[in-house]
Amino acid sequence: MLVERLRPHNTSVFGEISRLAVKHDAIDLGQGFPDYDGPAAMLEIARDAISGGLNQYPPSLGQPGLRAAIVAERARRLGGEYDADGEVVVTAGATEALTAAVLGLVERGDEVVLIEPFYDSYVAAVAMTGATVRTVGMVPDGGGFTLDVDELRRAVGPRTRLLVVNSPHNPTGAVLDRRDLALIAELACAGDFLVIADEVYEHLAFDPRQHLSIASLPGMRERTIVVSSAAKTFNVTGWRIGWALGPAELIDAVYAAKQYLSFVAPGPFQPAIAYALTHEQQWVAAERAALHEKYRFMSTALRELGFDVKRSQGGFFVCVDIGSDGTRFCRELPARLGVAAIPVAALAERSHWDTLVRFSYCKQDATLREAVDRLRRA
Ligand code: PMP
Ligand code: GLN
Repeated sequence: MLVERLRPHNTSVFGEISRLAVKHDAIDLGQGFPDYDGPAAMLEIARDAISGGLNQYPPSLGQPGLRAAIVAERARRLGGEYDADGEVVVTAGATEALTAAVLGLVERGDEVVLIEPFYDSYVAAVAMTGATVRTVGMVPDGGGFTLDVDELRRAVGPRTRLLVVNSPHNPTGAVLDRRDLALIAELACAGDFLVIADEVYEHLAFDPRQHLSIASLPGMRERTIVVSSAAKTFNVTGWRIGWALGPAELIDAVYAAKQYLSFVAPGPFQPAIAYALTHEQQWVAAERAALHEKYRFMSTALRELGFDVKRSQGGFFVCVDIGSDGTRFCRELPARLGVAAIPVAALAERSHWDTLVRFSYCKQDATLREAVDRLRRA
C-alpha cells in the first residue's frame, strides 16, 4: 500500500533494532538515547508545568520564553545573533525541523546533497518532496572520517537547492573544522544554494575540538537553517523539543510546513528546556566530559575485543569496522549476545559502509561494562 516514493524508507533502522533489543532483552547500544536523566531541576519544572495546567496547545512558533532562551544561549556561546521573534521556530524534535525545512524549501526536481553516512530522516524527507538526492561519501582520515572535498565539488551543480551538513556527525563522530565548513560555504555561496546545519550534537564536541557553526562563516547566515534539539543536550530524547534558526524568510518556510506536521511542539516541556538552556550549562559541560570518558572506555574495550575502532571526536557514537556484513551482524547480535548496535549501511547508500557498525556510548558506566562483558562472550 505504501506510496512508491517512501517504499525504500518503509522501516527506520532505529525502530527495527530497538524492537529486536526489547525482544531479546538486549543492552541497547543501538538507538542513540541516554539511559539516565538530565538535570533534576529541569525535570521538576516539567512536572510542575503539567500539574500547573500547562497542558493545551502552546503558541505554534514555540513559547516566547523558550525562543528567547534558545537565541540567548546561542549568542552567548557562539556569538550568532537571531531574533527570538521571527528567526526561530520550536519544533517536535530536530526531526520535524529537518523535515519541515525540506518540505518548505525544496521543490520537486531540485537536487539535495547529503553527506553519507547520514541520519536516516534526511533522505526520507527528500523522498517526500519528489526531489533527487546526490550523495557525497565521507572518506577515511587518520583513523576516523572526514569530507571528500573533491567529490563534494563534483556533486553540486545548477540544480542543487540544498545541502545538509551535520557536525558533530552521526554516526562517525567527526567534528568538521573551519576548512571543511569553509569549502561548503564557498560552494553554497557560488552556487546560491541553501544549507541545513544539523547541530543536534553541538554541545558534545570533545576537547580539544570545538563546535563551529557554518552559519557563522561569511555569506552563510542568510542561506543557513540551523537545526538543533534538546534531546541530546539534556538527555530528553522523548520530549520532542527541537528548533530551527535562520533568517525570517527561511524560518517562515519551515514554519509553514511545520504547522501541518505537528502544529505545535509539546507544551509542558518548553519552560523546562528554557530553564535548562539558561541555567544548566555547567551540567552540559560535565556531561560532555563524561561522554568523552565513556567514548574512551568503549573504544578501548572494543579494541581489546579485536574490533577495528574508528575515531570519534564528539556526539554519542563510536563506529567499528567488523570486516563482514554489518547488517547481518546487527540483526543477529541482540539474540546472540544480548547487545544491540546499528549497521551503518542503513545510514548510507554506498556499499563500502556495509562493514561498519555503530555503538552508542551515551549509557551509564555499569550499562557499558555489562555490554562489554556480553560482547566478550562471543
Ligand atoms: N539529527 C541527528 C544527526 C540525529 O542523530 C538525530 C537523532 N538523535 C536527530 C537529528 C533528531 O533529533 P530529535 O530526536 O530531536 O528529533
Ligand atoms: N538519532 C538517534 C540515533 O541516531 C535516533 C533517532 C531515531 O530513533 N529516529 O540513534
